[in-house]
Amino acid sequence: MKTIDLRSDTVTKPGTGMLAAMSRAEVGDDVYGEDPSVNRLEGLAADMLGTEAAIFVSSGTQSNLLGTMTHCSRGDEFIVGQQAHTYWLEGGGAAVLGGIQPQPLDLEPDGTLDLGRVAGCIKPEDIHCVRTRLLCLENTQGGTPLPLEYLGRASKLAKERDLKIHLDGARIFNAAVSQGVSPQTIAHHFDSISCCLSKGLGAPVGSVLCGSRDQIKEARRWRKVLGGGMRQAGFLAAAGIFALEHQVQRLAEDHANCELLAEGLSGIEELEVESFADRTNMVFVRMDPDQARNLTEHLKKQGILIQGRGRVRLVTHLDVSEQDIRTVLQAVKTYFSTGRP
Ligand SMILES: *Cc1c(COP(=O)(O)O)cnc(C)c1O
Repeated sequence: MKTIDLRSDTVTKPGTGMLAAMSRAEVGDDVYGEDPSVNRLEGLAADMLGTEAAIFVSSGTQSNLLGTMTHCSRGDEFIVGQQAHTYWLEGGGAAVLGGIQPQPLDLEPDGTLDLGRVAGCIKPEDIHCVRTRLLCLENTQGGTPLPLEYLGRASKLAKERDLKIHLDGARIFNAAVSQGVSPQTIAHHFDSISCCLSKGLGAPVGSVLCGSRDQIKEARRWRKVLGGGMRQAGFLAAAGIFALEHQVQRLAEDHANCELLAEGLSGIEELEVESFADRTNMVFVRMDPDQARNLTEHLKKQGILIQGRGRVRLVTHLDVSEQDIRTVLQAVKTYFSTGRP
């Protein structure tokens, strides 16, 4: 039985093309800057996002941490979405390791931060106050691409108020493909961008932090301090190169599958599918927590994995086919028509 894993787009495994690229990789000691595959990946990522430089890191969490630690110092502050990954799901790393205080603000229903409220919590120059240095956005936010016009307004505010602006672009390529623009069109609004290779792009490990030459030089130092200096990392970088060269445009298939899934689920009376103006590879379904637990158990017996309680998130990715979506829809329909305990 094939497992259909809709819990996250992190669960993908390298296919034969990627594995071949990994096994062929030329490697060296990346701490000495001598790994040709890592260097190539960093150059490619910087080119694709239109920045001066990039650094390959072990995870998106480390990449965002390096983003905050290179823009802020001890006693500084960053403004971030209350529900954003960087605030909610990264262990408070900026505060724990960098002495950097987060200023969380609730996200608007469309995933943006209200810029009036952002401006309102920038602290004045005053010895009583923390120094506000950085604004962090996330794109896609909960699967929704941020409007390009909004990015323009956010970066304008950051410039006017002398803040740096960082993007947790774990899924920036999903946003770009969905909006039909180049990743640079999104990235150019930011001083730095963190991008996950191990989500929808399908690499097994790694993220890249893209930014200015000076920032990335500083990030290289902090990465080493954090224990993130890897040696023959080229085997992993080769997977990242393969992902960037071959698995970007195909994200459109994940988005189409997600739409198919959302439509199918919307037709089931017992489920409340959250509607989105612009959906990429995630669909959120509200249901009673007991119902969610029962459905999760029921589907698991058929090799279909989902997770979540009152709000179940289903994510499409390169290991989920259109046929798989039809299988999932059938299984959910059967559960509600007959299998329900
Ligand atoms: C997954 C994710 C990260 C962090 O990535 P890890 O590699 O799991 O540390 C950061 N931000 C967002 C929005 C993510 O989805």
